[in-house]
Amino acid sequence: MPIRFFRPRQIALLALMLFMLTASISASAQDTVYVRQNLRILTSDDMHGRGYSFRGDSIAAQFLQGEIRRLGLKPFGGDFMQRYTFSIHSMEGPLSLRVGKRKLKPFDEFRVPSWCNSTWGKYKVITIPAETFIDADKFKSFIKKNNSLLENVFVYIDATRFNPPDEESNRHFVDMLQSLQRRNPFNSKGIVVGVKQLSTCSFSHADYKHDYAYFEVLASCLPDKFKELECTVFSQFHPAYPTQNVCGYIEGEVDTMIVYTAHYDHLGTMGDSIVFYGAHDNASGVATLLDLARISVAVKPHYTTVFYFFSGEEAGLRGSRYASEHPLFDFSKVRLLINIDMFCGGNEGIMVFNANDDKTRHYVDRLEKINSVLEIAPEIRRRENRPNSDHYFFSSKMPAVFVLSMGQPFGGYHDPKDQCDACGLKNYSNFITLISVLAEP
Ligand SMILES: [Zn+2]
Repeated sequence: MPIRFFRPRQIALLALMLFMLTASISASAQDTVYVRQNLRILTSDDMHGRGYSFRGDSIAAQFLQGEIRRLGLKPFGGDFMQRYTFSIHSMEGPLSLRVGKRKLKPFDEFRVPSWCNSTWGKYKVITIPAETFIDADKFKSFIKKNNSLLENVFVYIDATRFNPPDEESNRHFVDMLQSLQRRNPFNSKGIVVGVKQLSTCSFSHADYKHDYAYFEVLASCLPDKFKELECTVFSQFHPAYPTQNVCGYIEGEVDTMIVYTAHYDHLGTMGDSIVFYGAHDNASGVATLLDLARISVAVKPHYTTVFYFFSGEEAGLRGSRYASEHPLFDFSKVRLLINIDMFCGGNEGIMVFNANDDKTRHYVDRLEKINSVLEIAPEIRRRENRPNSDHYFFSSKMPAVFVLSMGQPFGGYHDPKDQCDACGLKNYSNFITLISVLAEP
């Protein structure tokens, strides 16, 4: 490392940084054990992927309540739980798909959205050439011709066989395909779409019950010709699913607050064989908050420090939105809210969203300055505000940033391979230091 010369202000800053560095690292480096232990619990089979099947969310919330109580945090208004409801689908039963003679593997070879209508049995399959599907006249005559047939069959569209003559017809085709996830123009029992690459699993379009089944399948896994499929899928729609945020605080020397947030929910299960463990997303953020709580109770913090764990993030920031609209504490007292979502790995540094806002800019400026001297993270990347995690609904009410790690190692994104052992914690202590710098007096 090259020799550097510092000006007096930099020396003062450096002294402060070194103090913080020693304080936070001595408190945390000895112990990625606690982080790993919580990561393992949160990603265990008992938590069912912390989603809305098998009450995974509530099992995780019970664990969090127990842990923050044990650490000595206090609840606002006598209850660590902030209960609310939202509409969601859960998929708990057996899940299978056989097309022709080929039995397909869930997740790797086919995917089912959680809103897929419960369907089981053998069905005839009618293949619609992609061209028919986007030509209004051809489509009308196809429906007319097959009207009575379609009701009890599956329609198959092979999206990989469509050669769009121009950009516009390609866009039109993509729009039509996407609309099949909201509406079934065939009124068929179900729809199968063959694709080159399966789309990322998520809880999109979860607001109402669909009356048809929908499978997305890797076209390369299907037999050349098939006229029949057999499937089993069970999904349940909960118009008012009861869930909860979990919140506790440590009283500081002053009533000004630092609020740490992280979502504890994940995608749950797809049928009875696929579990989305969500180590990176976001057991890592939750374990980081628990660790920060452990460190904070050891020395009475200067600021009153709040730890807020949300459910409903994967279903569209439901928990944090509810929390932002139903304050448990005086939002005007909050100095800074720091949301942590996806904190494994980080070999490339960290990214800070809402880093350029008037209310947050100076925090991130200082963080960059300190990092440029200490070289803790290879890069701190600044991003504008986006509704991409739980800081968002708070950001109009208080200074709020969202911090995530950049780069490997972690197991995957919205993938069953996102598991505890794939979550790298090599950079963890450094990142805890950066988080402490953000929150420093
Ligand atoms: Zn996610």
